[in-house]
Amino acid sequence: MTVELPEISAATDEKVKSASASPDPACADQIAEDVYCPACAYNLRALISDRCPECGLDIAFIRSAESQLPWIHRNKVGRVRAYLMTIWMVLFRTKHFCLEMSRPVNEVEARRFRRVTIALAFAPFPAFTAALAWLRPDGYAAFVGFGGYTFAVAAHAAILAAILTVTAVPYYVIRHPDIALNRQKRAAALTLYCAAPLSLTGVAGALAMAGVVCSRVNNRDWDLAWYTAAAGVLLILAAVTVFDVQRVIRWMLGGARRSWPIILRLYCFGGLAAFLCLVGLPAAIAFLMIVVHSLS
Ligand SMILES: [Zn+2]
Repeated sequence: MTVELPEISAATDEKVKSASASPDPACADQIAEDVYCPACAYNLRALISDRCPECGLDIAFIRSAESQLPWIHRNKVGRVRAYLMTIWMVLFRTKHFCLEMSRPVNEVEARRFRRVTIALAFAPFPAFTAALAWLRPDGYAAFVGFGGYTFAVAAHAAILAAILTVTAVPYYVIRHPDIALNRQKRAAALTLYCAAPLSLTGVAGALAMAGVVCSRVNNRDWDLAWYTAAAGVLLILAAVTVFDVQRVIRWMLGGARRSWPIILRLYCFGGLAAFLCLVGLPAAIAFLMIVVHSLS
């Protein structure tokens, strides 16, 4: 798709009225699904012409209800390639990614994409811990501290729980009473794809492992620089993920409505979920351990 999309006009409004009363199945060129104009959110269902009747935009490029998300076409292009192309689309072709809410979004496929992404996002953490235990047993001992093996398990459970809950929060907060329900559902499904940047936590994992290897080989404290770089990459990936979600929210609202109430909800519930998982869960496990030890 090479069509340059127009920026959403601030004067546009969500309109859910249909272009005509009911689609005529005899007409093959009619748009058969609820497809929304990317500029004014007008429902183009049953439209025959290539122009939006509301704002006049040439909508030839959006006529097809077939998803342009590479992940949907992975049986044709290959799983790995489709996954990488989808990450590329979410990261660098944000407009075309957001445009997908104009047509039906397969939520089951979106959930599958998120599951794969969560697995990729989490895998570097146990890999790093294993590398630390193997190459720097002293560093591993300092990491697990008084809780021993249980603490390492609790820390990983907390990280996994945080990734699971924080990537689910946008799906539930992206709601607006004035937006057509199926457009909200499509936008919510697209937020599941917004976890895509987190699939690159392997880069941070590689940097952290370089720190472990460096400290092992050189027997110096160069590892701190590598760990800092790894933490920096994690922060950048988290920031890009939030940016992508905000873009989907703004696109859903069509620029005509203020997005800050939804974005505020996103930050509040996302922050709360992260806090409960990363602080509350380990604290609860530690408390349980203390109770069990005191009873035995
Ligand atoms: Zn329009």
